[in-house]
Amino acid sequence: MIPFEHTWPYDRHGQDVFIPGCPFCSREHILLPLTPKELDELKEGIKKLLVLPCCRNRLTLVNADSDYLLANRPLRGLGE
Ligand SMILES: [Zn+2]
Repeated sequence: MIPFEHTWPYDRHGQDVFIPGCPFCSREHILLPLTPKELDELKEGIKKLLVLPCCRNRLTLVNADSDYLLANRPLRGLGE
């Protein structure tokens, strides 16, 4: 059972992986430094350290599905 608080939606446009909004600084439409290959590896459970380009906050991603990224810590409610 995946804790909902640890999930964050993302979008993929071709080779680019975006998040509609940053969980830390609430900036919108952030292009992630994540390649489609890394996204595939994430889906296989290979962890990735992500540094958000907007605010330099770090995030450890532990999994993903076709709609959501899964982090090792709660993401929801951070920017509020
Ligand atoms: Zn940010």
